[in-house]
Amino acid sequence: MKSQVKTLGILGGGQLGRMSTLAAANLGIRVHIYCPDEESPASQVAEKTYVGNYSDKKKLRAFANGVDVVSYEFENIPVETVRFIENVRPVFPNCKLLEISQNRITEKRFLNNVGISTAHWTPIRSAGELAAAVRSAEKQDFILKTARFGYDGKGQLVHKAGSDPKKNFERLNSKELILEEKVNFSREISIIIARDKNRKSALYGPVLNEHKNHILSKSTIPAPIEDEIAAKALRVTRKLAEALDLIGVLALEMFVTKDGRILANEIAPRTHNSGHWTIDACYVSQFEQHVRTVCGLPVGNPARHSNAVMINFLGSDVDKVNKYYKMKGSCIHLYGKSEIRKGRKMGHITILKPIK
Ligand code: AMP
Repeated sequence: MKSQVKTLGILGGGQLGRMSTLAAANLGIRVHIYCPDEESPASQVAEKTYVGNYSDKKKLRAFANGVDVVSYEFENIPVETVRFIENVRPVFPNCKLLEISQNRITEKRFLNNVGISTAHWTPIRSAGELAAAVRSAEKQDFILKTARFGYDGKGQLVHKAGSDPKKNFERLNSKELILEEKVNFSREISIIIARDKNRKSALYGPVLNEHKNHILSKSTIPAPIEDEIAAKALRVTRKLAEALDLIGVLALEMFVTKDGRILANEIAPRTHNSGHWTIDACYVSQFEQHVRTVCGLPVGNPARHSNAVMINFLGSDVDKVNKYYKMKGSCIHLYGKSEIRKGRKMGHITILKPIK
C-alpha cells in the first residue's frame, strides 16, 4: 500500500518535527515545515520550509496549498492557525485535541468527564480564590500552575502549606491558574498511543520518566511497575484516545501513586520525548506512526526488540556525546541546534539491551 499523501505539512520546526520528517522520508513522503525560525532542526531535513509567524494567513495558505495533509509538532500552535489551515487541507490530530491540551483546566475537566482520574484541582482567577482554596487544607502543599503555555516546569510553583497566597498568585503573573493537590507519587510514567483512520491503535509503554529541574532527563522501558498497574495505565490511555477519536499520535503523562492509583497529569497532542527510544528499539517508531496515521496509512507494529534507556542531552551535556560513539548498544541522535542554552534539548542517546 502506498500513501495517497505525497507531501505532509508540519506546523513547527523542532526536533519532534525533524524526527517525523526523517521517518516520512523512509516512507517516500516529502515534508514541508512551517515555523517562525530561519534555522530550525526540522527544516534542515525537510524538502521545504515556510518561515512565517502563525498569523500570516497568506503564507499559511501557500504552505497548505503545497501539501496534501497537515499535522503539528508542538502544542502551542494557535488554535486559530489550525482552524484556518483546516479550511484548506485536512489536519490531524484534529483541533479539538489541540484546544483541550492547550489549557490545563480544559484538559483536566475533559479527563475527569471521560472518567479518567487526575490530582484534585481547582481553577484560580484571583489571589482571593487561591486563599480560599488553600484554607480548606492548611497543612497541605499544592502545585500552582498557569493554565496556559507551561512546559518543562515553567509557569508553575509549589505552594507550600502556610505560604502567602497573594505573593504566589502574583509570582505566576497570569489571570488563569490551576491549583493542584501535590501528588505523593512513587513514579512518573507515560504512554504513547498512535491511532489510524480505521481506529486501530498501537501503544508504547508505560515508560518510566525521570526529570532534572522539571525537564525530562531519562526514560526507561520497561518501567519497573507491576503488570496490573501497567495494564491500568494502558486502559486509561486507550480510553482517552477513543474519547477524542484520535487520528494521529498523543502521549499521556501519568503519576503512579504510592497506593497504586493512576492519575493523569498531562496530554501531549503529539509525539513525545519519552518515546524517542522507539526509533531504535521498536519495529515501527512513534515518529513513523505519526506519519502513517496522519497520512492515512495503517499503524505499524509497535513491539520492541530491545529494552532501552533514553537519556536527553540537555544544554552542555551534549559535549559528552563523544564517549557514546564507541559504546556498544548506543544510538546517537543530535538535533542540529547550533546554540547551546541551559536546559535546551540538544539531542539524546538511546542505549539498547536486546530482548533475548
Ligand atoms: P507538568 O508541567 O504538569 O508536566 O509538571 C512538570 C513536573 O512537575 C511533573 O513531571 C512532576 O514532576 C511535577 N508535578 C506536576 N504536577 C504535579 C502534582 N500535581 N503533584 C506533584 N508533582 C507534580
